[in-house]
Amino acid sequence: MILASRNSHKLREFAELLPGLDLQPLPDRVQSPVEHGETFAENALIKARAAREATGEVVVADDSGIEVEVLGGRPGVRSARYAGEAATDGENLAKVLQEVAATGQGTGARYVCALALIDEAGEEHLFEGECTGHLIPEPRGSGGFGYDPAFVPDDTGPDDNRTMAEIDPDEKHSLSHRGRVARELAEYLGR
Ligand code: IMP
Repeated sequence: MILASRNSHKLREFAELLPGLDLQPLPDRVQSPVEHGETFAENALIKARAAREATGEVVVADDSGIEVEVLGGRPGVRSARYAGEAATDGENLAKVLQEVAATGQGTGARYVCALALIDEAGEEHLFEGECTGHLIPEPRGSGGFGYDPAFVPDDTGPDDNRTMAEIDPDEKHSLSHRGRVARELAEYLGR
C-alpha cells in the first residue's frame, strides 16, 4: 500500500499508527498534484487519485490541518502554507497566533484529518477524524510538529494544560485526528 505523502512527520506518525501495514512512500518520480480542493476530503481524494494513476497500486492519502474558531475556520486546508508557499511550521504558527491575538479573544480550534483509500478494485473510501481543543498564546514543548506547541487538546481533561508538543507520541496517537482516522482505516481493512 502506498501512502501518498511527502510530509515526513505524517509518514512517521502513520507508520507508528499502522504497524501492521506495509506502507510504502510515494516513488520519487511521481509528482505531487496541486491541492486545489476546498475541503480536506477533496484534497485527500486529489492526492489519492494522482498516486493511483501514477502507480496502479492500492493507495492511501490524507489531508489535514487546523481550523481556528475566531478566524472563521482558517487556516483550514491552507494550514501547511498559511504564511506563504514555502513557509515553515514556525512561520505558519506565528501567523495564526498573531491573528488570534489581534481578535483579543481566546479561542477553540480543531485538528481535522481526511483519509482517502483507493482499493484494488479502484473503489474510493473516505475516513474523517477530528481532535478538538484550544490555542494558547505562548507555544510550549518540542514534540509533534506544526501547530502542536500551541494546541491544548480537550481529551486530556480540563485540568491538564499540556500542549500536543508536550504529550508523548503514544498519547498523541490515542486522541489525535490522525490516530482516529488510522484506527478507522485499520478496522475497515480488518473487516
Ligand atoms: P497537508 O500535508 O496538506 O495535509 O498539511 C497538513 C498541515 O496541517 C501540516 O503541515 C501542519 O501545519 C498541520 N497539521 C496537520 N496535522 C497536524 C498535527 O498533528 N499537528 C500539528 N499540525 C498539524
